[in-house]
Amino acid sequence: SALSASQIREAFLQFFEGRGHRRVASSSLVPQNDPTLLFTNAGMVQFKDVFTGREKRDYSRATTSQKCVRAGGKHNDLDNVGYTARHHTFFEMLGNFSFGDYFKADAIAYGWEFVTKTLGLDTKRLAVTVFNGEGGVPWDEEAFELWAKQGVPRERIYKLGLKDNFWAMGDTGPCGPCSEIHFHQGDDIPCAEVTAGRACQGVACDCDRWLEIWNLVFMQFERKEKDAPLIPLPKPSIDTGAGLERIASVVQGKRSNYDTDLFQSIISRVSELVGKRYTQEDGASMRVVADHARAAAFLIADGVQPSNEGRGYVLRRIMRRAIRHGSILGLNELFFFKVVDRVIELMGDAYPELRDSRTFLIEVSRHEEESFRRTLDRGMKMIDESVAKLKQAGEKKLSGADIYYLHGTYGFPWDLTEIILRERGFEADVEGFWKEIEKEALKNKFAGSGDKAVGAVYQQVLERVGQSEFLGYEGVGHEGEGS
Ligand code: ATP
Ligand code: MG
Ligand code: MG
Ligand code: MG
Repeated sequence: SALSASQIREAFLQFFEGRGHRRVASSSLVPQNDPTLLFTNAGMVQFKDVFTGREKRDYSRATTSQKCVRAGGKHNDLDNVGYTARHHTFFEMLGNFSFGDYFKADAIAYGWEFVTKTLGLDTKRLAVTVFNGEGGVPWDEEAFELWAKQGVPRERIYKLGLKDNFWAMGDTGPCGPCSEIHFHQGDDIPCAEVTAGRACQGVACDCDRWLEIWNLVFMQFERKEKDAPLIPLPKPSIDTGAGLERIASVVQGKRSNYDTDLFQSIISRVSELVGKRYTQEDGASMRVVADHARAAAFLIADGVQPSNEGRGYVLRRIMRRAIRHGSILGLNELFFFKVVDRVIELMGDAYPELRDSRTFLIEVSRHEEESFRRTLDRGMKMIDESVAKLKQAGEKKLSGADIYYLHGTYGFPWDLTEIILRERGFEADVEGFWKEIEKEALKNKFAGSGDKAVGAVYQQVLERVGQSEFLGYEGVGHEGEGS
């Protein structure tokens, strides 16, 4: 039978250990050296300073299975969750890294060997991409030829542009072209392009037909100043990332990450609580609950607590979104901590920090649901009243000030308000809401002094527009970005 996700994780780490890589533990979801980065969102984050040469390690090759969260900040997959088969807020990224040691030829050979030999994926269903030279940087002919040498048919090596196949650490610093490995899941999978009467874009398409499983970044240039020309690095490096959930889905012959052994038992816990069978067709809410329970468990275990600012606010949004989906499913009693408990059971072997703080994780989850449910009804009543008023006035959009009021008084995260309005056939003036937030942030900024002054809402603005844009000056740091 097919490999389990734990077996895949272990096979990956062993494969690279066998090729001279040091097995390094996942770092925390809360980045240690980068206050501008909301959450660790890729395997390379803990090695940033090693790549730039600022920090030395006693190894030049590493392999990890890294806890990642992509909710908020530049990489924000929150809205996709439940609706694509491949995006999560929390996921595990498998990676191999070379710090000025091996480069493209070995990275490509290792990647291909692992997917075709170790995992035994059908080569006929694999395709790869290389950088096409958009924006004046030369196209990656070297990578193209290296893939061809591995036996990938030339017509299945696609050339893509800056958006998908070029990576940069920030406006300055190391950067370079990437190659992605994709797996063909089938052309009978619905594609929004086709539904709209256009052609599916294949590996470049946003749909689930071709699944991106692995990204290989070739750090071979450096940019000294913003927009300055690229300088070749004397010792190029390798940074790769493969989503464990996606690898598990193709290895286990599933078309959705949610059908793998990483999710099955969490989904069945939700389905048990709801008293309804899970189906792909109308399972979006169950998927949201399952995904968000994982994110909540791992974030709380790494020291984040639901709150009204910064990381805590993102966590609160995730938890309240899950609880709201729970009530859509008819769960009117506290349930979220029970799903979180299942996550701990399932993942506690691989991540002992979950088991170590089990009581705490459950308490925080239960408490957050209690306090949210206390205001949920009142908040819903206010939304109903607002909707009635909008109807009367023949309007479609709830004002930013009203969304702000719900946010402050009832603890309704703006995106939750937006979802509820959308369900009722109305819209939310999210831009207006952010203007209110910015007004308050500025008020605080000028009213007080030092860091505290910009405290409460500053992080929210930061998360949205980035520090330089908000404060109106540059060079105070960049939004960190993974592979
Ligand atoms: P996509 O184009 O599908 O959004 P990406 O190009 O943003 O993926 P990368 O930044 O290249 O992803 O990250 C490396 C790998 O991590 C991807 O190839 C994929 O396997 C996995 N991955 C990325 N985002 C997610 C997510 N939100 N949930 C699960 N796995 C993910
Ligand atoms: Mg993405
Ligand atoms: Mg991509
Ligand atoms: Mg990618």
